[in-house]
Amino acid sequence: MKESEDRVVSSRRNTLKMLALGSTAGLLGLFDSKEARADSYETPSYQKGLAPVTITKVRAILTAPGGSNLVIVKVETSEPGLYGVGCATFTQRAAVLVPAVDIYLNNFAVGRDVDNIEDIWMASYVSSYWRNGPVLNNALSGLDQALWDIKGKRAKMPVYQLLGGRSRINVDTYVHASSPTLEGLAEQVQGFMEKGWRHIRIQQGGYGASVANGAIADFKTAKYGRETDAASDMGEYLRSVPRMFDHIRKVCGEKIELLHDMHEQPEPIQAINMIKQLEQYRPFFIEDPFSPENMPWFKQLRATTSVPLAMGELFNNINEFREPMVQQLFDFIRCHISQIGGITPAMKVARLGEWFNVRTAWHGPGDTSPVGHQANNHIDLAVFNFGIQESQTFNTRVQEVFPGTPVIEKGYYVVTEEPGLGIDINEKEAAKYPIRYNGMGTIRKNDGTIMKP
Ligand code: MG
Repeated sequence: MKESEDRVVSSRRNTLKMLALGSTAGLLGLFDSKEARADSYETPSYQKGLAPVTITKVRAILTAPGGSNLVIVKVETSEPGLYGVGCATFTQRAAVLVPAVDIYLNNFAVGRDVDNIEDIWMASYVSSYWRNGPVLNNALSGLDQALWDIKGKRAKMPVYQLLGGRSRINVDTYVHASSPTLEGLAEQVQGFMEKGWRHIRIQQGGYGASVANGAIADFKTAKYGRETDAASDMGEYLRSVPRMFDHIRKVCGEKIELLHDMHEQPEPIQAINMIKQLEQYRPFFIEDPFSPENMPWFKQLRATTSVPLAMGELFNNINEFREPMVQQLFDFIRCHISQIGGITPAMKVARLGEWFNVRTAWHGPGDTSPVGHQANNHIDLAVFNFGIQESQTFNTRVQEVFPGTPVIEKGYYVVTEEPGLGIDINEKEAAKYPIRYNGMGTIRKNDGTIMKP
């Protein structure tokens, strides 16, 4: 921009700013422009006509202070001291994120203007040409969240303000209760109710499947598979869930909202028959009844029962779930924001859901970093169609690695008023907790057949 043009733009901006501040004195010229500026907030560099703040480095930081492998993306900028953090966690393949971030994303992003989040997102999304997979979408999530963090720091506002401002007092959450015995589970539920939670997810031991009362599966006796492989008795699981709801309703009453995660494991027709039986216990939602391969079964499930449904932990890309949302095949969208590409696509998902009464219930257990939880929280506070947020209580090691880790009061995540996402990473602490190479555990039927999670 030429100097004369610069002055015109700058004076027009000052006028607009004075209008925004309601400063008639400024408009009447009672203050010179210097005083008027002193009256307002610090002018961002791009408004002063200076060169844009650009990305100077993008890198991955791996750490596992709570047991789950976490991946953080740190974006450094040309403005000294200004950086952002984002969550790129793909806990089962964490190490693969390092080259994806440090080589490809860094090479792609360096030199770009930090302000243009949408443009950077779309350019990065298509730059690998093939684009629907995990790893790259996780890497992009980390970059995207870090850019929102930077934008918030530059605006001196928490991210939720940039997304439209507050729509509620705080973020209502559900907590995870799990015990192999009904008595133990009821005790946990009552304990959480006393602490103020209004929504509790109930599970009996492992997800979706349970080993039948210490029985040894036939594949174990035959020494098939690996020693660490888990055995599932699906028949027992399908009988146990209505029993569990019945017991918890009797002991804990009607007031508490109960949730349950099927973790995609039963055959679709088994899932449908089981969910029908749960109607009388009024679940808040039943989560992930089908594996992603079985999406067409939702139509039959929907026609069979009015039990509220949540889906989407394993979704990668909005193209996978746009149609089911538009067809109102489930009530809550459960995707992992650090998996689908970050805050930018999550806001599109949320807005799409608003038109079709699909509410948000973002993925948020320990395999989402506290940075990712903060990204969830800022969206939750801002969007109209917020449903509920999965919560995690973080141990002191995690809190030391991530200053600004979200806290829960009376079942609500308390959203920070710090600029940006309001969270940071202490890299020295993070280095104390190296990741471990692992994947999703293998679960087999009695005869050794693998079950899809
Ligand atoms: Mg789940």
